[in-house]
Amino acid sequence: MTHLTNADLHCHSVISDGTLTPEELALRARTNGVGLWALTDHDEVGGQERAAAAARQLGLPYLTGTEISVTFANVTVHIVGLGFDPTDARMVQGLRETRGGREQRARQMGEELARVGIPGAYDGAMKYVDNPELISRTHFARYIVESGFCPDTNAVFRKYLAEGKPGFVPHRWANLGDAVRWITQAGGVAVVAHPARYKFTANEEFAMFSEFKAHGGQGVEVVTGAHTQADYVKYAEFCREFGLVASRGSDFHSPEESHTDLGKLPDLPGSVTPVWTLLESRIL
Ligand code: AMP
Ligand code: MN
Ligand code: MN
Ligand code: MN
Repeated sequence: MTHLTNADLHCHSVISDGTLTPEELALRARTNGVGLWALTDHDEVGGQERAAAAARQLGLPYLTGTEISVTFANVTVHIVGLGFDPTDARMVQGLRETRGGREQRARQMGEELARVGIPGAYDGAMKYVDNPELISRTHFARYIVESGFCPDTNAVFRKYLAEGKPGFVPHRWANLGDAVRWITQAGGVAVVAHPARYKFTANEEFAMFSEFKAHGGQGVEVVTGAHTQADYVKYAEFCREFGLVASRGSDFHSPEESHTDLGKLPDLPGSVTPVWTLLESRIL
């Protein structure tokens, strides 16, 4: 497979905080000309069988996926796993533990939001949740938009849900090393998701990538929905500096909310090695 494969290796279904089912996403990927697809629900592999089956029916090459929430130096970092065995016991248990704190955190978010004039947010958010183990800030954002407090979910994050805002409840997620090992020990490749989104200093970012690599991490998202052209250049350079392969994924959540659709991304820069060169044998 070449550089120019229209790979989309990052998106979300109703099993986490997306609004489409795995089957609807598979069809959308196929329709949009995706040539290699992965569903990467947050801290979950519950949609993998459905995604793989739907992709198979459409003749769409598929890699298993997840996006693990990690805390590194008090910053939340997302690690995408690709091409692993989704039934691996350590992976399944690790993800279950990572999801475990979400319920309590969501109840606290509801209390914090009530304090700033948004009552009933926990119950309201739950109306948008399909998987009871996976309540996320996105579900709160949808309820807050529906209630008329903000015009769109981006505005909700800016005003209420981003770090430091009144509805933000700090949370400790998985360790970086654990997340990388769950993925690699299950036969997959670990990838740093959307690195430009983290509020790291240059030194902190260097430390994060160094640790990631030391634990066995192999990839970084270079082309992703949240990145600018300058970010593509910067992280292509990181690939060279740290000896990492490059991934590409829209981070698509919803036709109404996401500005980058499945498969609608620029190509990876020519200088990088695509992550799928390490995963040929894992493609379903
Ligand atoms: P959680 O895992 O519950 O902390 O929720 C994180 C999710 O919130 C991310 O995966 C995004 O889908 C969404 N999110 C985070 N920041 C923003 C933002 N500024 N605008 C819109 N969605 C966001
Ligand atoms: Mn999300
Ligand atoms: Mn993410
Ligand atoms: Mn994501």
